[in-house]
This record gives sequence, structure tokens and C-alpha cells, in this order.
Amino acid sequence: MKEITRFAPSPTGHLHLGHVASALHGWRAAAESGGTFVLRVEDIDTVRCRPGFIIDLYADLEWLGLSWPRPVRQQSRHMDDYRRVLDSLDARGLLYPCFCTRRDITESAAAPHHAPDGTMVYPGTCRHMDPGRRAALLAAGTPHALRLDMARALELPGARTLAWDEAGHGPQPCDPAAFGDVVLARKDVAASYHLCVTHDDAVQGVTLVTRGVDLRPATALHRLLQHIMGWPVPRYSHHALLCDGTGRRLAKRDGAVSIRAMRDAGMTPAQVWRAAMAADHISAVPSGVGSL
Ligand code: GLU
Repeated sequence: MKEITRFAPSPTGHLHLGHVASALHGWRAAAESGGTFVLRVEDIDTVRCRPGFIIDLYADLEWLGLSWPRPVRQQSRHMDDYRRVLDSLDARGLLYPCFCTRRDITESAAAPHHAPDGTMVYPGTCRHMDPGRRAALLAAGTPHALRLDMARALELPGARTLAWDEAGHGPQPCDPAAFGDVVLARKDVAASYHLCVTHDDAVQGVTLVTRGVDLRPATALHRLLQHIMGWPVPRYSHHALLCDGTGRRLAKRDGAVSIRAMRDAGMTPAQVWRAAMAADHISAVPSGVGSL
């Protein structure tokens, strides 16, 4: 089967070796099947994402010898698409506005517990809000997030027995309930990562989602969104994350050495690929890179 894979970085900083390894997973799965490797820019968070980082990420990936179909899907240009999904969820009674601040949530959770992705499960305060008060707050333009009513979503036929197919490992059972009423539109950003990523994998026809294992827990939630919206269901391949010498995962915020810095220090693309492959036991790179 010709796989459509994607690399979907958020332009909040410069690419580092962990990104190269991740892109390579996607590229390799597409190349091995004669399929297509797609690039997507996940820039809905306009505070953390910078246009300059988008320009630089294209340049870095091109310098590395990767290519992808144009135009690239840039999420910030598709907010209307996400709005339509939110409207359809709302029309089905699956959303509710949440006016809570972070502090409200921490203080109101009698026994706070965490979702599989480490976020705090929402105690449900605004779900039970008096409709009159809710309408008044909305009419006053009070900032609010939109949350999925998980209990209602799970009432949909089939929603409690979902699974996803992990390449090489078979069906993985899902427990989306463990996430509680997740945010699908933030107060500051009109959509959430979970909504956009799942929507875009569907509209871009992605058949195999390759991404870091840190996002594995979120897949249960993505499966639920696919089920609710009737979107096609890709297979998944979650790869290990590259770590630094102390065993910590490489991260932009911790100042992981960027591809730019490696290039400026005189490294060739082949040397960068070799560094990513050595760290990740990968054995094939794009032909544009030449032999290593
Ligand atoms: N944009 C996400 C990130 O940079 C990746 C999303 C995904 O692969 O599902 O971490």
C-alpha cells in the first residue's frame, strides 16, 4: 500500500536532531511504499509560533535534501475549517463553553487526577452551569474555551470500544474517557492541537501517522474524534524520542543544538543525517542526500 505520511512540526523554534529523526521516520515509511511524504506546519498558536521559524524550517529541510508536495498546509490559514468542525460538534450537543481559569480548575478539583498525556482532567464545573448564567456570560463576551462533553461523546454507538492499529503491534485499545472533557478550542487559540491534527490527517489523506511516542497517549482521543466525525482512520507508528547524553529528550526549550547551528559549524547534510541515524538506528536516507 502506498503510504501517505506526514511530518508536522510546530514552528516554535529551530529544528534539531530529534526533528530530523522524526522526519526521517515519515519519509522512510512513504519512500519504502512508493507513497508520499507530506509536510504540515502546525502553527495555530500564534504566540509561540513565529513566521521566521517557518521560513527557516523549510530551508533546513531543503538543505537536508527532503522534498514534499506544495502548497504546504499551514494550520493558521485553515481556522475556518476547524470552526466548522466545532460548529458541527456543537450542533450535536457535544461541546460546552468553559469559563474557568487555570486557577479555578486547580482549586475546584477535590482530588485532581491526570489524563494519560499528563494534563489535568477537568472536574466538569462549567458542564453543569445554569443555562441562564451561561447565556449571560456568552452574551457579555466572557473569554471561554470549548470542551468536549466526553460522557455524551461516549454514548455514541461504538465509541466505547475503539482501537487504533499500531504498525507492527496490531490493535491498541483506546480509553478516551481517561482524558475527561478535553479542550477543543482554547481561550486564546480558536482550536486545539487535538482537533486540528486529527482533522488535518483526515483531509490530507494521511494513511500512516508517524510521530514521537510522547504523543501516543493522545491517539486514544484522536481515535474518538475520528469516530465522532466519521473521518478515515489512519494507522499509527510512534517512534522513540532522541535523548541527550543525560537521557533527557531533545527539546527546543532546553537549547538542543539546532540543525542551523550544525550547518553553521560546518557540518554537511550527510553528517547531520548520520548523526540522526546513529542516534536512532535508521539505515536509509533520501536519495538527494547522496551516499553517507
Ligand atoms: N506539531 C506537533 C509537534 O511539533 C506534532 C503533532 C503530531 O505529529 O501529531 O510536536
